[in-house]
Amino acid sequence: MKIQYLGTAAAEGWPALFCTCKPCMLAREKGGRNVRTRSQSIIDGKLLIDFSADTYWHFVKNDIHLDEIRACLITHAHEDHLYPLEFCNRRVGFAYLDEGSAPMLTVYGTKRPVEMVARAIAGAAEDRVRVQELERFKTVEIEGYSVTAIDADHDPHADSVIYIISDGKKTMLYAHDTGIFPESDWNYMLDKGLRFDYVSLDCTGGLYAQYEHGHMGTNACEKMREKLLAAGLADERTVFCLNHFSHNGGAIYDEIAPAMAPKGFLVSYDGMEVEF
Ligand SMILES: [Zn+2]
Ligand SMILES: [Zn+2]
Ligand SMILES: [Zn+2]
Repeated sequence: MKIQYLGTAAAEGWPALFCTCKPCMLAREKGGRNVRTRSQSIIDGKLLIDFSADTYWHFVKNDIHLDEIRACLITHAHEDHLYPLEFCNRRVGFAYLDEGSAPMLTVYGTKRPVEMVARAIAGAAEDRVRVQELERFKTVEIEGYSVTAIDADHDPHADSVIYIISDGKKTMLYAHDTGIFPESDWNYMLDKGLRFDYVSLDCTGGLYAQYEHGHMGTNACEKMREKLLAAGLADERTVFCLNHFSHNGGAIYDEIAPAMAPKGFLVSYDGMEVEF
């Protein structure tokens, strides 16, 4: 499997929209990997995760043919992960599809995000975009992947989940946005005897805002890594990657990447691809 991170920032982007703080100024000055857009990833070039307001730039910059994508998973109903009105641009007259295009894009998620998408596309793009609600801890087949939404420790009003995704050979855990995983997740993962090849961990707080609930900082990510290894849910071959960063965490890519490499973590940047 291959993951490409298209956007790796928290809600406000980095540099943040209206911000003059030091880490934002530093990101502007240094550029490159230090500049982060809002959250989105794609698995094997075909399974999209989240649909932020920066989706437009992501498909232009990475030459992704969005018309060919058949499935999009939504983690939760926060605007840095879901900008539902954008789906209306798939409607007749706004998007000219050809024989290579997917006739239908299905958006998967829990109740709240899919309701938002359904409301946005009503009377506009319903013949080209549909929604399917997912239940927590129930595995569904999506475009050749087994996908399971499990609990997130994140805003309950956003109906937040994290995802276990498997192609039958490899299994990954996509854990954004969340704090330290709830007990229900550990019970499920152990009960199913899972072993992850890839773990993408929320690291909104980076090196200097050590969140444990709602989001995580590097300390909580280290704890999660140790616990996954100790439980046999991960092993020495498992790739761990930190992702979803906020300026409140202080450390730009140039600082956090070398700090976390010796601890066994990759650090995401916009456009990064990892094959596992
Ligand atoms: Zn977020
Ligand atoms: Zn800032
Ligand atoms: Zn969020």
